[in-house]
Amino acid sequence: MADDLEAAGTATSYSGATSAASPRERSRPRGAGRGLYDLDRTDLSHLLADQPPYRVNQVWEALYAKAALPEEMTNLPLSLRSRLADHAPAALRTVAESVSSDGQTVKWLWEGSDRARVETVLMCYPDRATVCVSSQAGCAMGCTFCATGQGGLARQLSSGEILEQVAHARRRARTRRVTNIVFMGMGEPLANYERVWASIERMNADMGISARHITVSTVGIVPGIRRLSHESLPVNLAVSLHAANDALRDRLVPINRRYGLDALVEACRQYRSVKNRRLSFEWALIDGVNDRRSDAAELARIATGLAAHVNVIPLNPTDGFATRGTPPDGVRRFRDLLSSMGVAVTVRRNRGTDIEAACGQLAARAAQPSPPA
Ligand code: SAH
Ligand code: SF4
Repeated sequence: MADDLEAAGTATSYSGATSAASPRERSRPRGAGRGLYDLDRTDLSHLLADQPPYRVNQVWEALYAKAALPEEMTNLPLSLRSRLADHAPAALRTVAESVSSDGQTVKWLWEGSDRARVETVLMCYPDRATVCVSSQAGCAMGCTFCATGQGGLARQLSSGEILEQVAHARRRARTRRVTNIVFMGMGEPLANYERVWASIERMNADMGISARHITVSTVGIVPGIRRLSHESLPVNLAVSLHAANDALRDRLVPINRRYGLDALVEACRQYRSVKNRRLSFEWALIDGVNDRRSDAAELARIATGLAAHVNVIPLNPTDGFATRGTPPDGVRRFRDLLSSMGVAVTVRRNRGTDIEAACGQLAARAAQPSPPA
């Protein structure tokens, strides 16, 4: 079960609830601070108990519709702004911000109160923007080619920490509307299911981001995919396949030993038929490993059977994995092979490589120690 995985990956990550703790408190991961975006309306009404009732809506609107910081809520009395800032400060502190040379991609490195680190990427397009969010600090899945996986799991992120990443990116996007969210930053979203889903519900209901523009990317946690298919909101599903036979996938993506390809394909089929949402496969092309004609043929068999779109991307090099990404002519050859086999395929542009903002590479610098405060 996905829940087993949550527990197994983070056996000590819950807040060690005392009998006095509310369910919300118990769901807060150990180490996570309680930020403004971790409050629900009830928490907020307690915090504003001495205020006129309309204040709760006013603050909620400011947080979610406007992505405002407490100090920017100038329609509130100064004392109230300070109360908000004192009682529910930002859960994540900015450690670094980098901007790509073309100015269109921004990456942040954040630190929680326990110094756990995560990253977020904002990708700007002429008329809109996409935010790539992290769902965990680190990841327990151990994919061999992934910088995050090589570092292991530090802890789960709270829903508020996920939402805070979006709010921050929205402020930075300024007049560009953030229309799309992808869970392709650090971590495996389906191994932090409850909190990720709670954040998606709030993005959809309160931040005005349509579920159809939210993509959950998973390494292939089958019970999590099944559970997702029963949710009311129709999010997009991206499955990081990378290999279409069990022997190779077992090597690249160790969770495949637990949830093999047959079970994964079946869960994808169910997702498609229940949700009628777009399904895509991610395929990081690794030179001489998964870019051969036989790999294309195996992938085409699975992708055409599910009418799935395939996104190929040359592997970003990481220190912990010796093999390199497929060179550009090999990427084109692989794409053309897939196309000729009837697969809808896109070569993903690797945005922000000059600031190491490419997905899957986000932990590369995160392991470095904090600069002095
Ligand atoms: N854990 C989730 C989401 C985060 S990883 C998942 O695995 O899907 C986001 C994407 O980056 C995944 O498709 C992942 O396989 C890919 N990725 C990881 N390391 C990479 C690398 N070194 N080069 C290219 N893509 C990589
Ligand atoms: Fe985790 Fe995804 Fe990296 Fe695999 S690719 S280690 S699941 S973040």
